[in-house]
Amino acid sequence: MTLTREPLIGVLNAGSSSLKFGFYEGETRLLGGEVEGVGISPKARAVGPDGAAIAPPPLGDAPASNSSELLSVIMSWARERLGGRRLAALGHRVVHGGLRHSRPVRVTPELLAELDALVPLAPLHEPHNLAPIRMALRLEPDLPQVACFDTAFHRSAPEIEQAFALPYSLFEEGVRRYGFHGLSYEYIAAALRVRAPELADGRVVVAHLGNGCSACAIKAGVSVATTMGFTALDGLPMGTRCGELDPGVVLHLIQQKKMSAEALVDLLYRRSGMVGLSGVSSDFRELLASSDPRAKFAVELFCYRVARHVASLAAALGGLDAVVFTAGVGENAAPVRAAICRACAWLGLDLDEAANRDHRPWISTPSSRVKALVIATDENLMIARHTRAVIAL
Ligand code: ADP
Repeated sequence: MTLTREPLIGVLNAGSSSLKFGFYEGETRLLGGEVEGVGISPKARAVGPDGAAIAPPPLGDAPASNSSELLSVIMSWARERLGGRRLAALGHRVVHGGLRHSRPVRVTPELLAELDALVPLAPLHEPHNLAPIRMALRLEPDLPQVACFDTAFHRSAPEIEQAFALPYSLFEEGVRRYGFHGLSYEYIAAALRVRAPELADGRVVVAHLGNGCSACAIKAGVSVATTMGFTALDGLPMGTRCGELDPGVVLHLIQQKKMSAEALVDLLYRRSGMVGLSGVSSDFRELLASSDPRAKFAVELFCYRVARHVASLAAALGGLDAVVFTAGVGENAAPVRAAICRACAWLGLDLDEAANRDHRPWISTPSSRVKALVIATDENLMIARHTRAVIAL
């Protein structure tokens, strides 16, 4: 009898300074890891199937590798560890899929050209996502590749959600709310189907609170509204990004303070949010441990804003059945979850303080009308699932 094994799928998630990777057989991650400090002083770490640390890909002495150079190192490291097994496909996280893509697609030279044209919509992210795809196409032209878009899950949102109140011609040109973190929301929607099927068909707000933060209104598994917009700057305050901002502030900074476009990018993407408000850190672990009153102020403001947006998303849903917390802060920062849930008490959310402190999956009381849950997200597994499905077509 021969045992048929699931195809091996590689996953790459390339950011501006980090490259996360995973190698999956079905739902099992055989290898995972990350290179941080790409282009500055890259450091790699890796884990095996049991999550225990293993020797990472050898980066050599190169002081500044880019993600393309890293790709061949990671691929040969993985092949060696996987006993030379053939990789069936490589799946990639791509931040922007534009208007056309509401699902993952197979990479072709035509698709790459189309995605190149989207770079102006996500100049800080898209080039980093596309570089390893292009490199893999050159190094291994026969290896199928699949692009999985962070915007795709939100293509279902109604036009009144997607449009800004700007001249309609701009909307038609593509200046609209796209939303991001879609792979995370899709993973949570699928996890809810298994963990709480009664909620999966209901009205759910998912709060993805990590370095980047957003929240999404999901009705019966479909995105109807989300807090990020044209770019990943809008909506909730984040580690270093401002979140929602009166555009008049930007005009003021340009006209009165004579700030350049580059200086504004630096201010709004890297020096705002938690780090800008607190002057302490962008990291919630440090903020929660700090006795600095501004750190406390930043955390309070964050929780207040998240709760306001949960209510706004509940309005988009026409009611609320559950709130799900996910990503680094959502999964780990009990005081942050508690403050947000308390501010949502009027919506019918009754927090179980002890369950929340103990990081249990259900953090609302049994009688709470609106349920609150913590579910760990897994964007890379979502990419692996999509990639497997696309190449099976
Ligand atoms: P990314 O958006 O880069 O994927 P994550 O989802 O991993 O980020 O979230 C990273 C953030 O999670 C960190 O900046 C940190 O603030 C927060 N975090 C992680 N662990 C904890 C913890 N135990 N307590 C509070 N915050 C935490």
